[in-house]
Amino acid sequence: MNDATAVAGEILWVIGVVAWYVIRYPFERRAKRVRVVTSRRSGSEIVGLVAAVLGMAVVPAVHVATGIPESADYPPQIGAIVLGAFVYAAALWLFRRSHKELGRNWSITLEIRENHKLIRTGPYALVRHPMYTSFLLMAVGQALLVPNWAVGIAGLLGFAVLAVLRIGTEERMMLETFGEPYVAYMGETKRIVPFVY
Ligand code: SAH
Repeated sequence: MNDATAVAGEILWVIGVVAWYVIRYPFERRAKRVRVVTSRRSGSEIVGLVAAVLGMAVVPAVHVATGIPESADYPPQIGAIVLGAFVYAAALWLFRRSHKELGRNWSITLEIRENHKLIRTGPYALVRHPMYTSFLLMAVGQALLVPNWAVGIAGLLGFAVLAVLRIGTEERMMLETFGEPYVAYMGETKRIVPFVY
């Protein structure tokens, strides 16, 4: 029974990750057609992306495929897995919604595109980085879905490294590009969690 519950959580995590890629893929293709005018791709930014991919994809995928590290397993709980499924689904919804709102302004790294517009609508009306909010929800969802301490911690750590290494640089780039309107935007919104941070 315990095993079946753990496997159910892991399968839900796999479905979530596949859905993540299905949502992102068309934006990656479309982005190739929009010219980049400024790029802030840097070493620390790459480290952030690698940390996020390791913590939110590689570590859990290795665990699902091989069971490693077994010593970090703990007894699965149905309640946690059901909650994890809802949190992960909410994350995917917000991830998709944010991509759609950002549209042609989206980039996988820090870039300003030709005719870049400052978006303040949809999820961007509530927080300045709703896509990173969706990553935080995914990391929490992962920790609830996969009953293994290493997997849970890896996801949260991957998110934290990405957020710390990226938000400051991203906001400086946005400030240099948009000036006063971005200052106003910063005054009226939080970064990741509405009303909190
Ligand atoms: N940090 C945002 C966007 C992530 S995608 C989020 O979490 O939702 C990264 C790219 O989005 C950056 O290269 C930047 O050019 C662009 N970007 C970030 N915020 C934006 C905004 N409010 N309007 C338009 N483009 C934005």
